[in-house]
Amino acid sequence: MTPEGELLLRQGAADLGLHLDAAQIGLFARLLVLLTETSTQMNLTALRDERDIVLKHFVDSLTCLRGGWLSGEGRVLDLGTGAGFPALPLAIVRPDLRLTPMDATRKKVEFVDRAAQALALENVTPRVGRAEHLGREPGQREAYDRVVTRAVAALPILAELALPFLRVGGLLVAQKGSLTPEELEAGTRAAAEVGGELRRVEPFQLPLARDARTLVVIEKVAVTPDRYPRREGVPNRKPLFWRAT
Ligand code: SAH
Repeated sequence: MTPEGELLLRQGAADLGLHLDAAQIGLFARLLVLLTETSTQMNLTALRDERDIVLKHFVDSLTCLRGGWLSGEGRVLDLGTGAGFPALPLAIVRPDLRLTPMDATRKKVEFVDRAAQALALENVTPRVGRAEHLGREPGQREAYDRVVTRAVAALPILAELALPFLRVGGLLVAQKGSLTPEELEAGTRAAAEVGGELRRVEPFQLPLARDARTLVVIEKVAVTPDRYPRREGVPNRKPLFWRAT
């Protein structure tokens, strides 16, 4: 990582109240190398240059720590982790969390696994699979304290896919871009259908880059009915209380 990249990372983290030590900066630098090397071989992420990766992957991932919803030790699922976001940056700054980055695409999960090993992140256990299947598996359903998810789907779809994984009292912390009132309304109704209640909608700007972001927090207040999640593909095709786009 160049000195400029390191400065951006430190400033972005400081904006979130995080102080990164030299070891953590070193881990982010190695992750940057792995991402850029691997992106030349496969289509892992659209972002290529250092400034974009530092701000729009690393710093953006850390914004799920806003509001302290992930404080305390616990089991955290990253639903639709892609190339490991937000799971890998979270694992670097929060070694106390037990993280399961999960994605339907095997090659992405293999990358996350290799990166976690290269960075010696012992708190990361990646899983390949679709939320519609894993959310029904014993040991996965009702097994997590938190679900984080970044840029995966509209809120009603996320509610149906994520809530089955949470224990009652657990939280879904969803990282979204800007959110329309219609999506929020459908998401709130979908959450109620699967045992959730909207706790917080926090619009903010991405540190330094200033893009619009929204953190949505849904608490699981009741056991999810057995019929959810519906069959593979149905949550996306026919989102609860929402017209498909
Ligand atoms: N969270 C990452 C990736 C976002 S792209 C980031 O912010 O960079 C969305 C990812 O979600 C894709 O990798 C896709 O494979 C995964 N995904 C979408 N629906 C899924 C489902 N039902 N089960 C598992 N993974 C899913």
